[in-house]
Amino acid sequence: MQVKTVLEIGGDRVLDAISMSRLLDGVQTLSGQKCTVLVYHSVASDEANPYISDDVFSLHMDMLQSEFHVLNAEKYLWHLQRGIAHKPRSVLITVDDGLENNYSVIRPIMEQRRLPWVVFATTENLYSKVRLLWFAMLRAVCRFSSSKELSLLGRSWSLSDNDREIVFKEMNEWVSNFPADQSSEAVERLIQREQSTIPGGYIKKFCTMMTAEQLRDLSSSPWVEIGCHTMSHPFLTCVSEQGLHGEIDESTEQLRSLLDRKIRMFAYPSGRYGCREVTRVAALGYECAFAVDRICGFIPRYEIPRVGIYHSSVSVTRAKCLGISSLLKVVGLRTG
Ligand SMILES: [Zn+2]
Repeated sequence: MQVKTVLEIGGDRVLDAISMSRLLDGVQTLSGQKCTVLVYHSVASDEANPYISDDVFSLHMDMLQSEFHVLNAEKYLWHLQRGIAHKPRSVLITVDDGLENNYSVIRPIMEQRRLPWVVFATTENLYSKVRLLWFAMLRAVCRFSSSKELSLLGRSWSLSDNDREIVFKEMNEWVSNFPADQSSEAVERLIQREQSTIPGGYIKKFCTMMTAEQLRDLSSSPWVEIGCHTMSHPFLTCVSEQGLHGEIDESTEQLRSLLDRKIRMFAYPSGRYGCREVTRVAALGYECAFAVDRICGFIPRYEIPRVGIYHSSVSVTRAKCLGISSLLKVVGLRTG
């Protein structure tokens, strides 16, 4: 049974009861995993929001502030370098992609509460006029297209019979079967064909990236650490050796020169990577790198697992912070 279904059946009350029982605290202490790294993406208020609203995000932050130790990057790295365990109930909050809503929506919420966070930014769009994140646009195409059918890289999906979010997920997965150069051109063509069907307000809120100026301004905040999330957010395993240099080495250098500081943390886009990418990130002097699931395992600090927060419920987030996801993963279940 999928855990998402378990959550739907059991609901918040069951999760609250488990969390209150301190059972998960005990399991977390026994496993030695005392810091959960959370990953958020877009936060904005809109009925078409594919992620969570700013009101919900604020509730999550209030809960984290009152019930957990929210670490800053400095403290997190200090413990990591020395191999010293964190206090129980420690969390690190990370936000991926560097969308404009990270700056305009998340930043005020974090600063109001004086909560530290890490932003993993992509660099391709920092200086361009049209700053759109390709997979956010692909999701928007699936959501708003008036076509009956969409085709990409030799496969077609019907939009009339299918859940459009599922179509997006299948398309995104399909893209990962092709070399990055080939797929990015095909995705770009599809987006250009369909862009007029996507509401401008949606593109602004959910697909538009931060400017270089916004990112530099964000990095001046004492509450923010900026990490690298590649140049164009590809599936790194589909990128050629030459492409990898641009995606990892060059994007690191772009951030370093823009922000005038060492970039200490890296996050693999979509959690897709292999040993080649781990070796490259380690060789560049990063202090750690974040994944979703650990894949190679030969240098654990370059494959730190994270827990995605896609659910509005505070109870689900609390249970995830207490390690329910890793606990269920052991028995082959996912939290969704
Ligand atoms: Zn990402």
